[in-house]
Formats: sequence, C-alpha cells, structure tokens
Amino acid sequence: MAISRRDWMMKMGIGGAALGTGMFARADMVTDGDPEYASFARNLFKIDPTMQDVPSAFIRDGKVIQPARELPVFSEVDVAVVGGGPAGFAAAVAAARTGAKVALIERYGSLGGLFTNGMVLIILGTCVREGNDLKLYTAGICEEFMRRLSEMGDDAITKYPKGYGQPTIDPEAGKVLMDDMIAEAGVEMFFHSWGVDVIQDGNKVQGVIFESKQGRQAVLAKCVVDATGDGDINFLAGGTYQQITHALGFVYQVGNSDRINSHVTPDGKGAKVSLGAGEPIRALRWKNNLGPRGNGLDVRELSKTEVMHRKSIWNKTRRDKEMPGFGNIYLSQTCSQIGVRATRLLGGVTRIDKKGAAEDAAFADTVAYSGDDRGYKKGFAIPYGSLLPAQVDNLLCAGRCISCAPDLIDRVRLIGPCFVTGHAAGVGAALAAKNGVAPRAVPPAEIQRVLREQGAYLG
Ligand SMILES: Cc1cc2nc3c(=O)[nH]c(=O)nc-3n(C[C@H](O)[C@H](O)[C@H](O)COP(=O)(O)OP(=O)(O)OC[C@H]3O[C@@H](n4cnc5c(N)ncnc54)[C@H](O)[C@@H]3O)c2cc1C
Repeated sequence: MAISRRDWMMKMGIGGAALGTGMFARADMVTDGDPEYASFARNLFKIDPTMQDVPSAFIRDGKVIQPARELPVFSEVDVAVVGGGPAGFAAAVAAARTGAKVALIERYGSLGGLFTNGMVLIILGTCVREGNDLKLYTAGICEEFMRRLSEMGDDAITKYPKGYGQPTIDPEAGKVLMDDMIAEAGVEMFFHSWGVDVIQDGNKVQGVIFESKQGRQAVLAKCVVDATGDGDINFLAGGTYQQITHALGFVYQVGNSDRINSHVTPDGKGAKVSLGAGEPIRALRWKNNLGPRGNGLDVRELSKTEVMHRKSIWNKTRRDKEMPGFGNIYLSQTCSQIGVRATRLLGGVTRIDKKGAAEDAAFADTVAYSGDDRGYKKGFAIPYGSLLPAQVDNLLCAGRCISCAPDLIDRVRLIGPCFVTGHAAGVGAALAAKNGVAPRAVPPAEIQRVLREQGAYLG
C-alpha cells in the first residue's frame, strides 16, 4: 500500500513531532508562503514535467552530433541582458527605466558578479579630483547604488558619502539592494540560467538561448546586452573579439579580525600580519590577490587554479592563526566566483586605448566616463562605439568585455566604469527596441539625453 511522505515521516517519528519541537519549525509558524518563516516544507506536491523529452546527442562516424530540436519560448521581451554583474545589473535597471520590458539572465543565484560573488568589495574608478573635492564621474545608477547602500547602514558601505571615491561594501547588503532595484524597475530576473546560444537571422540577434535545470529555453528579444564579462554572447553570435590572458585571482574573507590581541602580537600593535583590507563589518577583512596568469575561459585551467588558491589560502590562514595574538581569526569564506579579470575584448566599432585616455580623446558619441583609481588624476571618455559590435546587430556589450585595447583593460574593468557602461548599454538597447531599429542606428544625442535625465555624468 502506498503511503504519503508525511505519513511515512509520522511513522518514523519525525513528522509533526519534529515540527512541534521546533527541530524544523515551530508549530505556530506559518511555513508555506511566508518568506520570514520559510523552513520546513510541510506540503509536498507532485508537479507535471515542464518539458517534453528531446532527442539526445549521438555519435556518428566518431563525431558527437546534437540533433535539431524545437525549443520552448520562455519569455519575449524588448531587451534581454545576459550576466548580472555591475554592468548587467545597471543595464537591466536602465533599460527598464527607459520603458523597455526587460529580462535579466544570470548563471548564479545572486547579482553583482565579481563585485559581490567574487568578493571584490572596493568600487574603484569612480572619481577625479577637482580642487579639494572629488568629482564623481560614475554618476547615475552607480551613485544611486552607493547612496542607497549608505542608507542601509554604516555596516553596508564604508566612508560614504565623504569617501565615495573608493568605498568598500558588504557583499550581502549589495546583493539585497541589487535585488530590490531590479524588482522596483520591473525587470524579470532569471537566476540559475546560463546563456549558451543566440537566436540569429544573418548577423541580427533575435534572442538568446539559456540552459537551466529545466533544459534549454529561448528568450526572444529585440535587443540583447552582453554583460557576461567574457563576451559570451558576441562570441556565440560570431562577432569578432581579441582574447587575452590575465591574472586569475581568488578573494577571501578572514573573520574575527577585530579579536586580535594586539598586546601579544610580535610588534605589540597587531599590525605585522596582513589579513587584508577592512570591510564595513569590522569583524571581517577581505583579501584581494593577483594569482597566476591564465586563460579565464579554459575549464581545466580554471579548475586547477581554484583548487590551488583554496589550499594556499587555507594554509596561509592557518599559519596566521599560529601567530601570537591571532588565535581567534578564521577563514570565513572564499569567493564563489573565481577572479577572472579579462578574457574576450569586443571587436567594436570604436576601440579605446591607453594613449587616447591619456590624451583626453573626445568622442561625439560619449555615453560614459571613467574616473581614476590612482590619485584621482584623470578620467577618460567612453564612446557608444566601444559598446557596439563591429559585425553583429541587435547586440550591445557592457562591462569588462567592451571594445578596448589590452593596455586600457585594467581601467575599463574596474567596478565604477562597468556600472556606467552598463547604464549606457541599457539605455541604448531600450531606445533601439522602442524605435524598432538596430542599436547602431540610435542617434547618440538621444542616448545622451536619456542618460542625462537618468543622472549620468557626460562631461
Ligand atoms: C581578483 C580581482 C580583483 C579585482 N579588484 C578590483 C578592485 O579592487 N576594484 C574594482 O573596482 N575592480 C576590481 N576588479 C574588477 C571588477 O571586479 C570586475 O572587472 C567587474 O566586476 C566586472 O563587472 P562585469 O559586470 O563586467 O562582469 P562580472 O562582474 O564578471 O559579471 C558578469 C556576470 O555575468 C554572469 N555570467 C557570465 N557568463 C554568463 C552566461 N553565459 N550566462 C549567464 N550569466 C553569465 C556571471 O555569473 C556574472 O554575474 C577585480 C577583479 C578581480 C578578478
């Protein structure tokens, strides 16, 4: 005789009794549908399979063949943004605020990319010094994000607003705020969805295919923003790019850094062991690192590097803990997203470079400005052409994969500039969708007007 799971649990003595004891949930808690008290799912239902069986790949003449198949259309939007790092987050919010119906597709379960999941917590490249003041070049959505974090408390962001040149954030606060801003803008968020292909007619992108636990599904879109950091979508669409290696880092957090007994440390001040930089939460320190040079797209290389980093960080923290006065510290966590600094750089309509940045290259289609991270000396203009793929249509790039020479990537990839190129790509994509034209046909003056309305700094 078939018995229900609940009956089975009751027989085993772990059903209602356990619920009643508070082992899983208090009896008075409302568990279903109340996120504050989400604990033990008391009611388990059968659900129908969501997809039909599809033909599997097979081997013919030693080659693995994937048969053609129809894919379900999961959603139809004006703008699909792939990748939810600083660039994709800003692009999705900006596109929605410009009136577009937007879907944001992210392979992990939270927003922020390397900024939060990669635990790179300090926002650089935001400002330039003007007299005694700092001028914020990454105004707009980036500024709003920093301001709203500061309103969440001084344990959410450091130094704000006085030091908004280089604030450090608590990643959990950052993720929650990004979720809030995405929801407020009316963006539909698809987590756990990996963008794996494009829908294309000639060189025109018509949407993206993503892979999830439910299989492959299509999102039809008038315009797509590639904010994957690695230019995955431009690559899948057959667009040109330049690929580089860079140092593969792995950031981590040390806990109890406020419980160092400075009286007994070797220097009597607790300063001899570098645990990393301070965070808004005083008990935590985050440690940035360079790591070995590598190909950030190579799965074997990424896997080996991650294993190496994890072990050496573990060993270092154990050694640090042995130091007099440091007995309370511990490895709080390592980042969930390995630190890939740069891989594919877009082959765009315009390529920005170090020389141009140093010589204040000006563009008629400037849509963003980067500040400086070293002494706030000099910013540089970022043209719309550096977001536009040279060949592919209905696609814009944002963030660390835009069209730049390798000699400028270490400035372009900073979090501040990634926010603003995302902001600009979002506005460009929304206007293209609204006017029924390719992004390259949107007049830059129109993009600049909307960006200014949305608080962006354009010189
Ligand atoms: C170790 C390290 C230290 C750094 N230090 C600093 C620093 O101190 N200050 C600073 O300002 N910057 C720093 N940076 C740079 C900065 O963190 C990144 O360049 C910036 O976060 C890039 O933003 P992005 O949105 O372009 O890309 P990412 O942050 O990489 O975000 C891309 C997002 O897209 C998602 N994604 C990727 N591919 C797909 C796909 N196919 N489908 C769906 N989703 C996808 C990813 O999961 C991720 O969420 C550092 C970077 C590293 C690696």
